[in-house]
Amino acid sequence: MTHKIVLATQNTHKISELSNILGSDWAVEPCPKVCDWDETGTTLSENALIKATAVAKHLGEAVIADDSGLFVDALQGRPGVFSSRYAGVDATDRDNYLKLLEEMKDQTLRQAQFRCCICYLQPNQAPKFFEGILNGAIGYQPEGHKGFGYDPVFIPDGSAKSLALYSAEEKDAISHRKKALEKFVQFIA
Ligand code: IMP
Repeated sequence: MTHKIVLATQNTHKISELSNILGSDWAVEPCPKVCDWDETGTTLSENALIKATAVAKHLGEAVIADDSGLFVDALQGRPGVFSSRYAGVDATDRDNYLKLLEEMKDQTLRQAQFRCCICYLQPNQAPKFFEGILNGAIGYQPEGHKGFGYDPVFIPDGSAKSLALYSAEEKDAISHRKKALEKFVQFIA
């Protein structure tokens, strides 16, 4: 049986990434274009709940929403929830990771984590949260062109290469989103 689930996003890259991770038992659909929200939360779970609530109110059915970011130990967890706009509201991925590299240039402690929080919201029920973490380190220069965001400067633990040198399949197998989604699927099962 195919499970249908609405994901609180219009981002087609995100829809296909989650569809690939979840596999053919799931049909992941984008939310309607009219759904709107402000990501004013100070944590990933607050932002995921904001998105899920906005879409669930509109549709009146179960939805999932995710929020993710990069948390760097030496920067007290920055960029964190501000990952997508670290170098400014109109910043590109490159602007963001160049700002990060500049801030990290004299740091020898380079541990960091990608974290993903998924919120599952069903009508008249308390929200459920599922977290996934990918541990790694910040490199000294960008490497590779695959993926998105901070992938060129993030080297997963146990690896010698940045995430931007991983194939989509290799990244999906270890990613923070994959780990959070696995917990969600276990919960549904
Ligand atoms: P979102 O909540 O998934 O849209 O992610 C917010 C921001 O976190 C992105 O715009 C990226 O800057 C960063 N980010 C989240 N996940 C990843 C990833 O898998 N690779 C690289 N950057 C990521």
